[in-house]
Amino acid sequence: MGEEGAYGRFCATVDAASAAAGVTDQSLLERIKRPERVHEVTIPLVRDDGSRELLTGYRVQHSSARGPYKGGIRYHPNVSLDEVKALAGWMSIKTAVVNIPMGGGKGGITVDPHLLSPQELEALTRAYTERIWRVIGPLVDIPAPDVNTDARIMDWVADEFGRQSGLADPAVVTGKTVEHGGSLGRDKATARGGFDVLEAALNAAHEDLRGKRVAIQGFGNAGANAALLLNEAGALIVAASDSTASLVAPAGLPVEELIAYKARGAHFCDWTTFERKRLEGQIEAENAERVSARWIVELANGPTTPDADAVLARRGVHVLPDILANAGGVVVSYFEWVQDLHSERWLLEEVEARLAVVMRRAYDAVTTLAAEKGISMRLAAYAVALQRIATAIGEGEKTPRRSVSTMIL
Ligand code: GLU
Repeated sequence: MGEEGAYGRFCATVDAASAAAGVTDQSLLERIKRPERVHEVTIPLVRDDGSRELLTGYRVQHSSARGPYKGGIRYHPNVSLDEVKALAGWMSIKTAVVNIPMGGGKGGITVDPHLLSPQELEALTRAYTERIWRVIGPLVDIPAPDVNTDARIMDWVADEFGRQSGLADPAVVTGKTVEHGGSLGRDKATARGGFDVLEAALNAAHEDLRGKRVAIQGFGNAGANAALLLNEAGALIVAASDSTASLVAPAGLPVEELIAYKARGAHFCDWTTFERKRLEGQIEAENAERVSARWIVELANGPTTPDADAVLARRGVHVLPDILANAGGVVVSYFEWVQDLHSERWLLEEVEARLAVVMRRAYDAVTTLAAEKGISMRLAAYAVALQRIATAIGEGEKTPRRSVSTMIL
């Protein structure tokens, strides 16, 4: 486990926040850092031409101290055990920051899904689900979308889980299509939660979104929806990049056109080319010196290295950290799960209003601790989470098993 890997960075940040959290017992800290369980699976895939391939997938169940494991499944050529372990850890921290009664987990398959036909994508998803169905479930571990996975893929996971287990239950996975038990507002939830946090932070700084110039790094679900929301609020989107290219337009990009363009399966590289970057750790010590933004909203997971954090702090850049800023997705996933368990359907306005309340509470808890301890928002967010996880572990030791709970909103 090298410090340079994503899981190493996760552990380093937990360590850095431990004093502010008052969690100094090293064995407890070690327990909080390490995943409870790691599943590595081999997935047989039959391609459309009849050829066979073996792919590798993972499901890391990091912490169940505060509730069932919760977290997405990503399909990407760079997926590795190290990365999935870090992502699962970040989910445990994230669910604790926003204080929903869930733990953290993550899954992934090492594959480039853009090279698969729709039939192959479905076959792969079903084969992966066949490998992991025994270890997931509505009260155990609830997957969701992540990089390169979407509502249609979650429907396949739910369906395959039902076939394998004989227990069809939509609550086994979140981020499904609305027709199959998904929640209204889940598709835009990550962006909206980040928007809520940014609004609160700008208000506190007596700044306005109107007229702000925004660069969107990553134009998937979170980035594209954030561009829409920010545009609507009067900000100007002057740059956007996907995994293939970056577009720059000082007078503002046509956001809706870009979204329609990407929805047709096209990439920005068909317009212009630019360097291709990995997913995590995009802001590192060297390029952090050149970031000219005054605010960074981390809608991706783990985009900034600890070294870069130090540079950004020295340069006075405000960083709204991933585990808070992108938590809107899992919050509405949690709402979806509650609706499925209770056979309820909430209105979109209800979902958005409840999301705003949860995000606002989390923002307040984090900024209060940051001010009290004189630490960054990131360390404060980790510290808030660590306190909650440590308390849950302590309680779990007193009473052997808690029943699954839902919070009163
Ligand atoms: N993949 C998203 C995340 O990283 C959502 C996870 C979920 O909804 O469970 O937060």
